[in-house]
Amino acid sequence: MGAKKAEPAGAGAEKTRPAPAQRQAPGAKVKSVELPEAIAVSNLANVLGTSPIEVIKQLMRQGVMANINQVISYEIAAGVASAFGYEPKETRRRGLAIAGKRPAAPQKGELRPPVVTILGHVDHGKTTLLDAIRQSNVVATEAGSITQHIGAYQVETDSRKITFLDTPGHEAFTAMRARGAQVTDIAIVVVAADDGVMPQTVEAIDHAKAADVPILVAINKIDKPNANIERVKKQLADMGVLIEEWGGDVVCVAVSAKKREGITDLLENLLVVAEVLELKADPHRPAQGAVIEARLDKSRGPLATVLVQNGTLRIGDIMVAGNAWGRIRAMFNDRGKHLKKAEPATPAEVLGLNSVPRAGDTFTIVPNERQAKELLQRQQEEQKQALGARRLATLDSLAAQISAGEVKELNLILKTDVQGSIEPIRDSLERLHTEQAKVRVIHSGSGSITESDVLLALASKGIIIGFNTPIEPGAKRLAEVEGVDIRSYQVIYNLVDDVNKALSGLLKPATVEVVEGRAQVLAVFPVKKLGKVAGARVVEGRVSRDSPARVLRSGKVVHDSRVASLKHYQEFVTEIGPGQECGIGIEGFADFEVGDIIETYRRQQASSP
Ligand code: GDP
Repeated sequence: MGAKKAEPAGAGAEKTRPAPAQRQAPGAKVKSVELPEAIAVSNLANVLGTSPIEVIKQLMRQGVMANINQVISYEIAAGVASAFGYEPKETRRRGLAIAGKRPAAPQKGELRPPVVTILGHVDHGKTTLLDAIRQSNVVATEAGSITQHIGAYQVETDSRKITFLDTPGHEAFTAMRARGAQVTDIAIVVVAADDGVMPQTVEAIDHAKAADVPILVAINKIDKPNANIERVKKQLADMGVLIEEWGGDVVCVAVSAKKREGITDLLENLLVVAEVLELKADPHRPAQGAVIEARLDKSRGPLATVLVQNGTLRIGDIMVAGNAWGRIRAMFNDRGKHLKKAEPATPAEVLGLNSVPRAGDTFTIVPNERQAKELLQRQQEEQKQALGARRLATLDSLAAQISAGEVKELNLILKTDVQGSIEPIRDSLERLHTEQAKVRVIHSGSGSITESDVLLALASKGIIIGFNTPIEPGAKRLAEVEGVDIRSYQVIYNLVDDVNKALSGLLKPATVEVVEGRAQVLAVFPVKKLGKVAGARVVEGRVSRDSPARVLRSGKVVHDSRVASLKHYQEFVTEIGPGQECGIGIEGFADFEVGDIIETYRRQQASSP
């Protein structure tokens, strides 16, 4: 191939040779055209009022090989525009060409590799794509060396590096963020061409948007006979994700992870997006970053994969990572090779911590042991306070913060029973605003409230609104532990009214239900007068007589009243503890089935701990 591949945005301008047909006559009036920092060939053709083929031909004259979807830099596009008789001007600042990007905060230091996470619906090929990328880029000398899973890896393309987090999926992505670590610069959203946009695709996109992380769409499985790339593009457009070809600015690449096709194109486009983001870090300072994953190795002790976000990490450094600390004794890369240092955006497995930190913990380097201990103590105190503060992230406390002018946006996650309920509720909510604040629905969907919803609420300081939909047990526990407010409604009016009151700062503290105990029904006995009682075992907490209680079947509430009778063997008792078997009678209920869960709870003011 004579012509070189299109250089990503920001590459030096090619020497241009004007397109003979469009050469300007002397004195002809020159039209000016504004071009962004990076633009797809198809968009450039639109702007110049010509066909993409003409643009591609001109690019070839400039010595650049590019396809219709490829993004080219301003410098190259400007060359094309001049050849077509335009006077090019660069629009806006760098960084504005990519949708969903973070506001281009000026960053100091030297350019660093982007950190990329792969998101998308289950089975759409996230893991296969990660493998394909890794294998497509094994450096020749290292070919054949065994790669090992350390939670992140780096590939090199055009002598530039890209770091991939090896834990695909938006739950891991948001869980890290909920712990305070925002490590991802770009999210690849994988959509299988044969399956199209699915609920978790929508979730993934919402999670990336809530984190202000730009999206690059990889349409995967294009090798499949029933692949329909156009349908995916249309579905994306329908949900407001406009790809470049459709006049938007989201980069979209078609790949087959299985057949290893389109991988180079994908990597090049990632570099283009990274270029636009101008990611920088200062390698000449002590390292700081985040823990990607950690484990206890039987022979080597605590091992943590960390991602250096700024500075340079060196052997001998004293690291404080979450509640762990220690002097770094050794470091390895994802090929098990010893590292002496790790520069910005480099993942490294480190050895020497005294305990196992958690994924999402941030780390810092301190000059000596004394400072390590001081920092640990300070962090622990801050954690306690943060826990207290998080408990206050309820609708009423947000209402108070709104009226105090501290919060301008009320972040909501809306889950409904059926798809059809989303639009009307969302519309009513988004119409609400006061001078002080407005509503932002960061994610909506139908189905039960999941752990991933709770994580998103936690990471975005938002609350969850459920409309006629159950809460998954795991989500309920996580919300209780983390202090995330889940509000359930059966009537749209009440839902909208509460949010409206919160916006106006008028909401009175509501009561919330705190689960006290759970018992599983093992048998059902008829009992005179009482009808039927459940023979049950307490599986969690305690069950008390007269306590409010509900009966759950397959996660759904079938009855809600109170514990009318409680018996341990032949004795009536007032309370029964975990692991014990008992007979439970529920007021007004006789339809127990084996496997039902009896949940007892108390009501308390929402903002009390
Ligand atoms: P994940 O759940 O998103 O991580 O999906 P996986 O990577 O586990 O892939 C799910 C299934 O799709 C596996 O059977 C893969 O072999 C298959 N798959 C992944 N990518 C492709 C592809 O490009 N083409 C075809 N035909 N199958 C693929």
